[in-house]
Order: sequence, then C-alpha cells, then structure tokens
Amino acid sequence: MFRKLLTLNQARHVIQRHFKARPLGTEMIALLSAYNRVLSESVTAALDIPPFNRSTVDGYAVKAEDTFGADENKPAKMKVCGIVNVGEATKIRLAGNESAEIVTGAPIPAGADAVVMMEDIERKSDELCVFVAVSAGENIMKAGTDIKKGETILRTGQSLGSRETGVLAALGITKVKVYAIPRVAVFSTGAEVTEPGRSLSSGKIYDINAYSLSTAVQESGGKPIYSGVFRDDIAKLQKVLKQALTCADMIITSGGVSVGPTDVMPKTLDSIGEPGVIICGIAIKPGKPTTVALIDGKLIFSLPGHPTSALLIFDLLVRPIIKRMAGIESRKTLTVKAVTAIRLFPAKGRRTFIMVKLKREESGRLTVEPVPNGLSGAITTLQKADGYVEIAENQQFIDANEKVTVHTFKNLINA
Ligand code: AMP
Ligand code: MG
Repeated sequence: MFRKLLTLNQARHVIQRHFKARPLGTEMIALLSAYNRVLSESVTAALDIPPFNRSTVDGYAVKAEDTFGADENKPAKMKVCGIVNVGEATKIRLAGNESAEIVTGAPIPAGADAVVMMEDIERKSDELCVFVAVSAGENIMKAGTDIKKGETILRTGQSLGSRETGVLAALGITKVKVYAIPRVAVFSTGAEVTEPGRSLSSGKIYDINAYSLSTAVQESGGKPIYSGVFRDDIAKLQKVLKQALTCADMIITSGGVSVGPTDVMPKTLDSIGEPGVIICGIAIKPGKPTTVALIDGKLIFSLPGHPTSALLIFDLLVRPIIKRMAGIESRKTLTVKAVTAIRLFPAKGRRTFIMVKLKREESGRLTVEPVPNGLSGAITTLQKADGYVEIAENQQFIDANEKVTVHTFKNLINA
C-alpha cells in the first residue's frame, strides 16, 4: 500500500536535500535565565581569574626561604608586621624574616611567596614561630591559574548548566548571546486518544505521544508547543496544521500515518502546501509508516501512533535536526559493546531496532537481551530499555554470543 519504502539512509538524505537544519537566530539574555541555552558565540576571558595572587588558607604570608630547615624542634622565628584581610588591597611589603597574618581569599602581600597554615605556627604578640618549611607558591593560588586572560573559556554550541554559569559569573559576565530556541508544535491524532486529566471513557486511551515527544523536544534544545489531540478529520487537521505553521518552526504529529481508513495524515499533509509529503514510509522496524512533509519551508514529522515507534523515530530522525536548529554541537550518543544473550532476528528487508536491557554477568561480561514483551505499541518498552541494537537491512540475524554495539539512552541531553 505504501509507495516504495526508502531506506533509513535515503530518508535522511531526502530530508537534508529539502531542509538545511541551522540555528534560527540569536538573542542576548540574562545569565540567570540562561540555563540550558546554547552559546552562539565563544566567550574569551577579559581578565585573569583569580585576578590577583591569593591565599588558599588562613595563616601567615612569609618568604618561603625564611622557613627552610624549620621543623617542630627548630621553628623559624619571624616578626609579624600586620594583617591582610579579604576584599582590600594591602600596602604591606615583607622584608627578610617578616610575616603578615592573612585570611583565605586575601591578596598575597608584596615580598611574600608562600603561606604557612595557622595550624603550623605559634604567635606571641608580634613574634611568630613557624614549625614547618614551606616551598615557594605553597598555599597560594596565582593570578590567572584558574582562567587566563585572553583564554577562550566556552565555545559556540556549548549548552549552559551550573558549571558553565559559574565560569561566566567568575568573569563578571551577566548577559550571554545564545541561539533562539526552535519552537516545535506537537499534537496527537486519533478518536481514541484522550488528553490526560480528562476521564477515560470506554475504548479510549490517554495521550502518551504528545507528552513523551514534547519532553524529547526539550531534551533536544527545542520548545514544545502543545497543541492538543485531534480526530482523524482532514478538514480539522488541515486547520490545525496551518495554524501550527504560523507559530512553530517545526511540527510533530503522531498517529494516522498507517494504511487504515482513518489514517488521513499523509493525504492531509499533501493538501496544505508544497512540496507536501517528501517521505512516505521507511524500511525500518519499528516506525515503517513514518511520514515527513515540507511546507512553507518547515518540516512536519508525522510519526506512527505506537509510542515506542514514535520515540525511536524521534531519536533517529528528529532529534539531530532540532539539536542543529538549537545550535547544539552534536556529539555521538554513548555506545557500549556487549554480547547478545540470544539470537536476534530483524524484520525482513528492514533496518531493525531492538530495544534491549544490559546485564552484567558475574564474570564481568556485559550481555544484552531484548526487553521482555518489548512491543512497539507499549510505552514501557522504551522505559525499560537501556538502549537499542541495530540490525542492518541485509543481515539475516545476530547470533547468540555475538558482540554488538548498544546505543544507550543515557546522556541524551548533552549527547
Ligand atoms: P495509528 O498510528 O494512529 O494507527 O496508531 C497506532 C497505535 O498507537 C494505536 O493502537 C493507537 O491507539 C496508538 N496511539 C496512537 N496515538 C497515540 C498516542 N498519542 N498515545 C498513545 N497511543 C497512541
Ligand atoms: Mg490513529
């Protein structure tokens, strides 16, 4: 019933031919609102961090050479010529056998090149006994050792989390230039699909896909626009799609792409603009009926209704595109090598993705086996899976005890 199915690679090429996935624009935002946003320009340090040589302990700033040879029985003796507090410049300048009390974070006074910890001294009035020898630089964080002025500290494409925000704050930066967030309209189709929160009448199920896919959009750096659940009605769907095209950069729908009488999505997509449907079925399992359209220069992904199929196709086709539109530097997803516990069979002639669980045997060997009852119609298949194993179109099977690559679902946000 389908037109000739494309292979997964062909499908990717068709999308690339029609749509150049790139960031949509940039904006300046406050650092405190920048969580998960993506830098659209690299950040170069305009100053040294720390900006001055500072003490990392409470103690006494000294000339290291004045302590050489000192120990518990033979303390080095010196004069105390003042105190250096945090947050202020000091005029103290040490001469030989002089010291200055100093607190953690305070600038090292001129003439000093080490700090003796409070635990290693005894002080009587202005006389100091030092019971250890310290070497030059000890207990001092030198200016620029954390960040060097002129250093590129964060690069374009970096997502901002707590660690990156800390680095920017250290440099006194309060605003950052980031990529615009791609807006992705998400809606579900099917007379049986009911919005969570409503009561569930006979024959109905709750909408899983709009929720799982919206979250996947966020994981990919996009902003989902939840647009609801709609019956398989061409006129209604035409209206919803046209409306979504005015406010979103991409649309994701689920359901209604198979060959049943209510599967009207491909026809609907073809009726609302040019070029319309560019992919109508892919030789993969699960996810065969996946349909992709391009209208007004925007991609519309119409994914199968089965929740696991929908999310897998999202991972394979949609996630990389949203990430590129969000400006996120793409890194390969984490893979691990493991050994199959049983023989795995693909669907004939289709690239097959088998959801698997990883298991560490007592011997230390890592094995994989398919998620029990792992149906593409079940949402728990993905939730239970640690990842998937891919079987090529032309491969007959993967034998038991064969080594395979498992694409894990971990680290998807920054992967
Ligand atoms: P369809 O692709 O519309 O033929 O749907 C395939 C299967 O997925 C059917 O059992 C649907 O009831 C189910 N399904 C479709 N959409 C959703 C959804 N949004 N959430 C959960 N299940 C769905
Ligand atoms: Mg349906």
